[in-house]
Amino acid sequence: MSAMTKTRIHRDDEIVVVAGRDKGARGKVIRTLPANGKVLVAKVNMVKRHTRPSQSSKGGIIEKEAPIALSNVQYYCPSCKAGVRLGVKALEDGRKVRTCKKCGEVLDR
Ligand SMILES: [Zn+2]
Repeated sequence: MSAMTKTRIHRDDEIVVVAGRDKGARGKVIRTLPANGKVLVAKVNMVKRHTRPSQSSKGGIIEKEAPIALSNVQYYCPSCKAGVRLGVKALEDGRKVRTCKKCGEVLDR
């Protein structure tokens, strides 16, 4: 299974986790991993990693984000104050912007 997952979530979007261990957590998207159907979100799904001492660090336990399934996150709409599904609307100039399916708010500037 290596099908690309279609997503309208982009880097720097604010998302809310809607399922799993971090349900309810909000964070900014660091990176999308469409080939894996996952997304990396700041301060969400933190895992502890043990590192060996090296020239650049003393080693020890560091906390790092682990990717989370795209199906477990939703775009956080500031108007709805909730996770929402995204729609797409074409502007008069032909530009396509994302909208909140709940309140209709245009989310891209
Ligand atoms: Zn909304």
